[in-house]
Amino acid sequence: MISVEEALDKVLGNVGVLDEEESPLLDSLGRVLAEDVYSPLDVPPRDNSAMDGYAVRSADTRGAGQHRPRFLRVVDTVAAGAISRCRVEPGTAVRIMTGAPLPEGADSVVRFEDTDETLRSGPSAEIGILKEVEPGWDIRRAGEDIARASLVLSRGVVISPSEVGVLASLGRQAVKVVRRPRVAILATGNELVDVGQPLPDGKIYNSNSYSLAALVSYCGGIPEILGIARDSEDSLVARLRKGLTADMLLTSGGVSLGDYDVVKDVLAKQGEIGFWTVRMKPGKPLAFGMIKGVNKTGVGRGIPHLGLPGNPVSSMITFELFARPAILKMMGKKNLARPLIEALIEDAVVNTDGRRIFARVVVSRRGEQYFARLTGPQGSGVLTSMALANGLAIVPEDSEGVAAGDKVRVMMLDWSEKQAYV
Ligand code: AMP
Ligand code: MG
Repeated sequence: MISVEEALDKVLGNVGVLDEEESPLLDSLGRVLAEDVYSPLDVPPRDNSAMDGYAVRSADTRGAGQHRPRFLRVVDTVAAGAISRCRVEPGTAVRIMTGAPLPEGADSVVRFEDTDETLRSGPSAEIGILKEVEPGWDIRRAGEDIARASLVLSRGVVISPSEVGVLASLGRQAVKVVRRPRVAILATGNELVDVGQPLPDGKIYNSNSYSLAALVSYCGGIPEILGIARDSEDSLVARLRKGLTADMLLTSGGVSLGDYDVVKDVLAKQGEIGFWTVRMKPGKPLAFGMIKGVNKTGVGRGIPHLGLPGNPVSSMITFELFARPAILKMMGKKNLARPLIEALIEDAVVNTDGRRIFARVVVSRRGEQYFARLTGPQGSGVLTSMALANGLAIVPEDSEGVAAGDKVRVMMLDWSEKQAYV
């Protein structure tokens, strides 16, 4: 048996970063930027008002106070999007709205709250200024967010909603990113029936194709469901062929020691096999190899194929541990691991056979402490345990288990990487 780390190293050693493509701005969300983005402009492009108020020469407000208005003649009004043709000369002001470019001559803005327009009105309207302002007050400077020609976003950044906004503020409608991997998913098993079909006696619905496809989407890949292969080499090979243009192949089932477990035989014939039992629970049997195909994945020896175990929980957990990091690596990401936290476990977990246990837990926080409670029965066929869990508590392989109240590390399934740094 090999360790989880050894298995992961082998998988990651066989996948490379995919090529780059131009993506419409919104489709770049969650992907890795494949260019250095320099700004073609100042953002904001001009000095502008941060408030609704009056653009003034600050010197004209000297001595102004709540009960000592300084009167300035209002020569224009300027809204966001317009440019005032008037220059603010001594003794004058321009009524200005938030975001409107600052008129020439003005060096600061007095907010409406600090003015009184009822004091003097009429044809030659004047505004009463009730506060002294300093140069630069309530002005947003040109380029204060982004300076023209500066490096705004570097290649390798993961595009979050904020980066989408920043790119839009530069006027970009498309951006270069790393391509998303197409991940072909094949279920194996004579017992499987696809959803939407009647269920004959002795059969079960194929849930793995769907949980795996959902996981692929969740981490940014494009799932391609290849259907169900029966437990024969011919059926498997025929179905696998349809996946030979994918960037990665996932199969579920058929990797144990049963009479019908043919995935590893096929892998041995079709490519280079790595078949391991991994020191983990659930998910001990795991096949990995490079299938000869129309490879685009970069390493050059074929399409990486992960043969995940058939048990629904095992296939999801082995996806988490091996397929997800591989997909993220293909997408150009650097942070491949789920965040780990320390929690106090509230139930005992017994380790009988020296494997690393990934127990499904619900993590909650009371005060400064995280607690992890088992979701209930932990059988590898109990898929609802995954639905209840937000984390996997890790019981080390070299321990006899953990007692209630012990500290455990928990791999969080529903935290994004950024949250991990908070
Ligand atoms: P196997 O690894 O093929 O021996 O399968 C282990 C267990 O997982 C068996 O009980 C299978 O019926 C079940 N199983 C295999 N594939 C699927 C699937 N696609 N959906 C749901 N259960 C499955
Ligand atoms: Mg099977």
